[in-house]
Amino acid sequence: MVVVMGERATEEQIQRVVAQLVEMGYDVHRSTGATRTVIGAVGGGPKGDPRLVEMLDGVAEVVRISEPYKLASRTFKRDDTIITIDDLRIGGDEVIVMAGPCSAESEEQVMGTAAAVKRAGAKVLRGGAFKPRSSPYSFQGLGEEGLRLLRAAADQHNMKLVTEVMDASQIEVVGRYAHIYQVGARNMQNYSLLRELGRTRRPVLLKRGISATIEEWLLSAEYVLAGGNMDVILCERGIRTFESYTRNTLDISAIPVVRHLSHLPVFVDPSHGTGRRDKVAPMARAAVAAGADGLIIEVHCDPDHAMSDGAQSMFPGQFEQLMAELRIIAPAIGRSICLEPVARRGWGF
Ligand code: PEP
Ligand code: MN
Repeated sequence: MVVVMGERATEEQIQRVVAQLVEMGYDVHRSTGATRTVIGAVGGGPKGDPRLVEMLDGVAEVVRISEPYKLASRTFKRDDTIITIDDLRIGGDEVIVMAGPCSAESEEQVMGTAAAVKRAGAKVLRGGAFKPRSSPYSFQGLGEEGLRLLRAAADQHNMKLVTEVMDASQIEVVGRYAHIYQVGARNMQNYSLLRELGRTRRPVLLKRGISATIEEWLLSAEYVLAGGNMDVILCERGIRTFESYTRNTLDISAIPVVRHLSHLPVFVDPSHGTGRRDKVAPMARAAVAAGADGLIIEVHCDPDHAMSDGAQSMFPGQFEQLMAELRIIAPAIGRSICLEPVARRGWGF
């Protein structure tokens, strides 16, 4: 249930409500908005009668959350969640673009790609060092050396870094380099990993599972939120259907659906969503038009020789063109995107 406190509720009254909820066996999550405090109560034993709380002083309303996910729901939190990392705001008016290679391969490749995506307006560098490959014989990533290269490139260009953590045992080492933990589609239901990430205080980009329903996806986000980490970014990356022309079927309709059901920011990955470089820009444009809070896009300075996902990686020039188009689309729906276009200095594409 959600307990909405009155606008003039005192701290003492809030504490009394919290104590009552704890006594009833609930886990309590407090969220303080501009005008009022909302207390989310999840779990709860047989003594969970909401009337015991309704009677308390300072309580304006007690609302039952009918969805199976609680903390992720708009019932729990009406306002959009905005995640702040230094001066970066994810989930606000500005559409945030994360871009970079599928995998870190070498210093030259990471540095070259980072410089290109920054120049085009990306705010976050993406890139994998621990790669979840379908085949055990494919390139598995550079490990910690890849993390080091990615973080150095992000720092050099004043970007944040998002990179994948595949297993709970990697949280510590990935956390030494990443600003945002990425949970891959294949790990969306790795509940022990999600629980451990809930104990961290760093944002988590949670990809939608290959065959996950929206409800299952939001329940996975709930695992992180329930641990007290409220900074989850949902990322639609395509689901598996009977269609084989594209690598996956990018579910654009998930954007308005999730934005209605949840307060969490919704991103779209049109690279894995389509698997084809020529389809990335149209899907990225559609995603922004449909209300996505951001994009994560694979860009490579030499995609034809990429060690993973070359076919879906954009050339830097294509990415720059896309960013210019998004700057026209975003204002049409009341959003902005990289307001300060980065100067074109010696740009050879
Ligand atoms: C990736 O971002 O490179 C990746 C492996 O994504 P996904 O988990 O969506 O397949
Ligand atoms: Mn990839």
